[in-house]
Amino acid sequence: MDRIICVDQEKVLDVVSDHFPQYDAILVLANSSRSGGASLGNNIITSAMSKNLNQTIIHELGHALANLGDEYTYGGVDLPTREPSNPNLTLNEYAYNVKWGHWLDLNLGQASIGVFEGGHYLEYGVWRPTNNSVMRTLGQPFHAVNLEAWSLALYRHTGTYLNSVPDSGALQQNEDGQTFEIELTLGEEVQSIEWRIDDELVTPQATNRLFVPAQNQDYIVQASISDSSQVIRKDNNQFSQDTLTWWVSVQ
Ligand SMILES: [Zn+2]
Repeated sequence: MDRIICVDQEKVLDVVSDHFPQYDAILVLANSSRSGGASLGNNIITSAMSKNLNQTIIHELGHALANLGDEYTYGGVDLPTREPSNPNLTLNEYAYNVKWGHWLDLNLGQASIGVFEGGHYLEYGVWRPTNNSVMRTLGQPFHAVNLEAWSLALYRHTGTYLNSVPDSGALQQNEDGQTFEIELTLGEEVQSIEWRIDDELVTPQATNRLFVPAQNQDYIVQASISDSSQVIRKDNNQFSQDTLTWWVSVQ
């Protein structure tokens, strides 16, 4: 097809594995100003160096990273034989049990979530969550359903935190007291932490840092990390949540 850019996937994987084996996704840029791109599997996406470059990358990463499906309605012939795995496409036209039902109360003009017919290259028989998103037309926002899928995919790759000091697990109390610190992956603007000492909620000195003065008996510190951006409402696999536990013994 005219606007699909394909590559020799084996060759691409060879080159990237040699030079950057820790890759998450691969973008191949075609030295052409004619708009086009593709998501080819194996986390390879392509784009031309067109004026739509940024939008094309977002759209193709929507496929490769977040498993979003195309919401446009041309080029298709046959209905999918079973429910698409994509979070933004369904064969189920009924709002009461549609898979993005937890967003249906969002009623904000063009961002309103509903059950809109057309998607997956077909005009009829497949439904999408918004009238128009970047998975249908370049330049449009993701909107809530796609953004949730994108955010969960991001957490799936990054985890909720980079490290903690000290490492979670068992440790001996410091005689001057103990500081617990967590480096969040996305930061405290979109992530929050609930700190507990022996199951009691406590207020930390900073979102990601708790100091406990020297105690005279063993205690347990727990830090529960969650996403506070409000773009995630349903996280069945708990990609955006973690609980760290430290068992502190006092000799
Ligand atoms: Zn696409």
